[in-house]
Amino acid sequence: MKRFAGKAALITGAASGIGRAAALRLAEEGSDLYLVDLAADALAESAQQCGERGAAVAHAVCDVADESQVQAAVAGCAERFGRLDALCNIAGILLLEHAGNTTAQQFRRILEVNLLGTFLMCRAALPHLLESRGAIVNTSSTAALAGMPYAAAYGASKGGVSALTRTLAVEFAKQGLRCNAVCPGSIRTPMTGSGSLPENADLQLVSRAMPLDEARGPEAVAGLIALLASEDGRHINGEEVRVDGGTLA
Ligand code: NAP
Repeated sequence: MKRFAGKAALITGAASGIGRAAALRLAEEGSDLYLVDLAADALAESAQQCGERGAAVAHAVCDVADESQVQAAVAGCAERFGRLDALCNIAGILLLEHAGNTTAQQFRRILEVNLLGTFLMCRAALPHLLESRGAIVNTSSTAALAGMPYAAAYGASKGGVSALTRTLAVEFAKQGLRCNAVCPGSIRTPMTGSGSLPENADLQLVSRAMPLDEARGPEAVAGLIALLASEDGRHINGEEVRVDGGTLA
């Protein structure tokens, strides 16, 4: 399938996990790619892998929580490819901590990256996406759909991403711009590999979020992101789709 032939996509968090898998998937489907992340070396590696799949690729180190860096990244994409058809907001950070021990500074940073960063990217990309009648795919989480213990900041940030997604979907639907979110759960990535539980965590509480079958790789989410960003998703708008193997069904 070459659903993205002649199109350009900007992907954040593209150096790792779900972001890299989405970049590779869109590369295989013919998209030009502008890849963004904080991790310079891993980002360059993602770009190389996408190039090997035939994509025209540019990449830029960018903190999605920084307004001017976000503006520069979107401008760089528009300059390089002359268009933007799909924005995939995948960059994110996780904090597992008892709510009572979560500092204001930690809470603020999680909101800045996961929620403000998603908003800043959407806002900067809007003129281009309206022109192309394109699509936004945001990354929420099962933590936005059900209580996730020890994730006060993270869960709040993803709840905000879900609400932002529905807001943009409705606000721009008449202009042909769609906005959807994926809600992954139990996906094997560096984030889930390194996210250790806080001391004295109640394992019974945590066990509700365990996969019913088995954890999957990030490709399981990339396929859905590609669907929502593509013409196959043309009548899907303001939707949040769980990719968690049925944990929250
Ligand atoms: P990951 O492997 O850690 O990838 C996240 C990427 O985002 C990393 O390369 C990270 O760079 C980058 N990033 C972090 N802060 C950034 C910033 N301020 N600006 C630009 N890039 C930044 O994690 P993942 O599991 O693929 O997660 C991707 C998204 O899926 C996240 O939004 C996450 O919340 C969401 N999600 C994942 C799961 C899961 O089961 N894996 C479940 C629900 C939701 P650094 O490595 O330098 O920080």
